Amino acid sequence: MQRVYLDHAATTSMLPEARAAWLEVSEQVGNASSLHTSGRAARRVVESARESIAEDLGIRPSAVIFTGGGTESDNLAIKGLYWARCAQMGTRPLTLVTSAIEHHAVLDPVLWLVQHEAAMVEFVTGDAVGRVGLGEIESALDRGNVALVSIMWANNEIGAIQPIHEIAALCKKFNVPFHTDAVQALGQIPMNLSALDAAAVTISSHKIGGPVGVGALLVDPTVKFTPVQHGGGQEREIRSGTFDPASIAAFAAAIRYCVSVLDEHGENLRELQEYLISAITSAVPEAILNGPPPGETRLPNNTHFSFPGCEGDSLLMLLDAAGIDCSTGSACTAGIPEPSHVLLSMGVDEKTARASLRFSLGRDSSKEGIDQLAQALPGVVDRAQRAGSVSA
Ligand code: PLP
Repeated sequence: MQRVYLDHAATTSMLPEARAAWLEVSEQVGNASSLHTSGRAARRVVESARESIAEDLGIRPSAVIFTGGGTESDNLAIKGLYWARCAQMGTRPLTLVTSAIEHHAVLDPVLWLVQHEAAMVEFVTGDAVGRVGLGEIESALDRGNVALVSIMWANNEIGAIQPIHEIAALCKKFNVPFHTDAVQALGQIPMNLSALDAAAVTISSHKIGGPVGVGALLVDPTVKFTPVQHGGGQEREIRSGTFDPASIAAFAAAIRYCVSVLDEHGENLRELQEYLISAITSAVPEAILNGPPPGETRLPNNTHFSFPGCEGDSLLMLLDAAGIDCSTGSACTAGIPEPSHVLLSMGVDEKTARASLRFSLGRDSSKEGIDQLAQALPGVVDRAQRAGSVSA
């Protein structure tokens, strides 16, 4: 049985370009902070990757702060900006404005600041397809005392693309720093950062075909960040820790590749996305597509469905046995499946939210793989519905 991987939003396979860059650099020895010849050679790798990323994303090299991935970048953005703003404004607590549909890498540092630093938070909600309202953000900004606004560029569960440029412009009007988690947007849709007024943008390597464990926070060099981790003072003292030149070079190679094929990649995925949606709705007519309709406001690699009467986890395991990898997208706390906070905030009821699966496409996705899914789905849904009615 050929396995069909439909979980590219969780992680995707490494690009040959990234692997080649990683292998080449991994043969060199030298700490990029050392002053000797080997150290300086490692440093050149890091700096040329920084320049390459900056050129591809339309920013200055000094804006690129390398981190250990998306989660670390989000933590640095949220806590680092919050603390710096409190110091700058000479008052605390301040309010964090974010959305109810953020990834836990944003939600959890926000809630940590609420719990441990008495920070205040205003959650803007998504509409029925998971797009946040500009009016709500403006009202929150208008109330004042806002430390920062953090709204993700595109949602990891239901693929909703947010009006990021409009949100950034609103923040600029109120002189409040804006952070966006662009982990799911990078490599899928055009991201013109030169035209975006953001204090910080989170990106991650393994979602686009680079190695796991490296990412970046793209910062406005004029904005202050309080460091979250302390040590050797690398990355302008914003992020201490020894550089990983091989992974950084591979990350830059992955970005270069993704940017160079973006239009073609987007077109292929949009065609496959339509095919996938129609294959699923033909196989299971009662399936409900969650999130925006395919088009400008939805990531081309994302589909997300609820299958009424089923448990998402049962579906996932049954599809796994049929050779298909997908995801429920929702968190699991102490082994107990939780309904997705994203779907709940969109007004989906708890039962339907638990009956959901995400299928995310990537470079190796094909119509044949989708056909294999469509063939397996009716039987899988039937078994999951029967299991659901027995346990109910
Ligand atoms: N933000 C979003 C939107 C994500 O989808 C993910 C990963 O699923 C992350 C942050 C975390 O990124 P990383 O796995 O690089 O820590």
